[in-house]
Amino acid sequence: MSLAYKGILFFDELPEFPRETLEVLRQPLEDKTIAISRVTGTVQYPANFMFVATMNPSPCGYYNDPEIPCKCSYNEIKRYQGKIS
Ligand SMILES: [Zn+2]
Repeated sequence: MSLAYKGILFFDELPEFPRETLEVLRQPLEDKTIAISRVTGTVQYPANFMFVATMNPSPCGYYNDPEIPCKCSYNEIKRYQGKIS
C-alpha cells in the first residue's frame, strides 16, 4: 500500500462537529479504508486521506491572545477543548 495521501479531508471549527462524527473517522484514519455496511452486505472503499482540522483555543477565539482578552469562563474553555480527545 502506498503511503502517499490521495486527498485531504478538512474540518473547520473541529469542536463544532458532533463527537459521534469524529469517532467514526478513527477507523478510516487508522485502516486507510472505510467500510460501508448495509442490509445487503459490506463494501470496503479506499480512504487514504490526510485529516486536517482547525479550532479556536476557546469559544470566543481569544484565549491566550496577547492583545484581546478572552471572554470565556474556565468551564466554557474546558468544555470546548474537552470535545477533542
Ligand atoms: Zn474565549
